[in-house]
Amino acid sequence: MHPLLQHDRQNLTAILNQTQQLAAQYFARQDTLAPGRFVADIALEHMPDKGMGAQAALDYFGKHFADKMANSAGPRYFGFVTGGSTPASVAADWLVSAYDQNACGSNDSIAPQIERQTIHFFKEMFGLDDAYFGSFVTGATISNFTSLAQARQWVGEQHGLDFSNDGMAGSAPLVVLSATPHSSVPKALSMLGVGRKAIVKVDTLPEREAIDVAALEQKLAAQQGPCIVVASAGTVNTVDFDDLVAIGKLKTKFTFWLHVDAAFGGFAACSEKYAALMNGINAADSITIDAHKWLNVPYDAAMQFTRHKSVQLKVFQNSAAYLGDPAQSPDYFHYTPENSRRFRALPSWFTLMAYGKEGYRELVERNCDAAHHFGELLKNSEDFTLLAPVRMNVVCFTLKQEGVTADAIQQFLAAVRDDGRVFFTPTVLRGVPGIRAAISNWLTERADLELALEVLKSVADKLKKPESV
Ligand SMILES: *Cc1c(COP(=O)(O)O)cnc(C)c1O
Repeated sequence: MHPLLQHDRQNLTAILNQTQQLAAQYFARQDTLAPGRFVADIALEHMPDKGMGAQAALDYFGKHFADKMANSAGPRYFGFVTGGSTPASVAADWLVSAYDQNACGSNDSIAPQIERQTIHFFKEMFGLDDAYFGSFVTGATISNFTSLAQARQWVGEQHGLDFSNDGMAGSAPLVVLSATPHSSVPKALSMLGVGRKAIVKVDTLPEREAIDVAALEQKLAAQQGPCIVVASAGTVNTVDFDDLVAIGKLKTKFTFWLHVDAAFGGFAACSEKYAALMNGINAADSITIDAHKWLNVPYDAAMQFTRHKSVQLKVFQNSAAYLGDPAQSPDYFHYTPENSRRFRALPSWFTLMAYGKEGYRELVERNCDAAHHFGELLKNSEDFTLLAPVRMNVVCFTLKQEGVTADAIQQFLAAVRDDGRVFFTPTVLRGVPGIRAAISNWLTERADLELALEVLKSVADKLKKPESV
């Protein structure tokens, strides 16, 4: 064994303690560190011939990199839809690395059983029928991909075709009906060879991002054959939900695969105040829900649920003598895009065990309350205006300026980031450039949004005044 490996093996406890100290220093400063920061390209160094050992590498990281990380797990990072990491999930994630299980197989550890158990918890949490089969993937994008891969196979089967074995050459183009699909849906369709242009946009309800179900019915009636419907359970701009009950009813008249992207909106099910938004979810053939957003576990983790396990197997089976017979095997590598898999169910299991239904109800309701509070503050402010009513945990707003441009928003948000207290990302809603505040972190309180408004106001004031010389 190389002497440095030998040394580090003997000093593993010291290395882990040093790591724990670095992490603890970060956690202790989560309330004050800048949530986002601009970092220019660094000068690239040569790969070392002779290593420095883990402790020196930790020192190097601490000295040169630690303070340039985003404090995206902190309470005032409102960009995208970003969760932090609960204490239980961080602990679990460290153990995932320590045990380094390859959670693909079923014959050497309890890991796949813990994954089954975790999926079972989630089915109860989200009100899903027992009939769903679920597995962990890396994120909602790959969950959408895994779902739409099954949808593609299923549409082929309705025509007597087997795309997984024969490919799609010569077959009629697939149609995907959707009103406000997340950008990962066209991306997934591109990866699947279905093509981004397969999406046929369905009208939304007036002033909403939710689908107009009557318009969907018309589009379905105009289809020649089976198609795919992608419904949103929580859009990223306004957390709008398609009417899943009404869409589900259309299944009695038309043949389609229903995929529901509930990446973060699925957590509506945690609270009686919002749970009705998820009514009808059991009509879905496949469902996407993220774990690294509102569940607040470390990246990267999401769940994929399907009612068609056998279709999933047809697409993802991984046949090789050394991997066993897919038909006989419950192994996840026959169901998910990955072959080798990180044991990403464990942080989810830990956090659900640690905080339970009650903990997540409190978290979801507190985040939504903070969003509504922020919405009220913005409504009463001089410089800002809401672009949509606050539905759950995202506030979509813009500068109160005639003809505000995307450039103006970019500039404004760069100044907000450089102030160092809050972080937002831009968007466009119905053609109007705006700002999103997505509140999905377990640490966030009302006071964080009050501070956010203060920062926004001070930056708006600064930009209004001509530069002082
Ligand atoms: C975030 C999000 C995605 C993509 O999720 P990743 O985990 O970043 O891949 C897809 N759909 C919706 C509705 C989302 O909010």
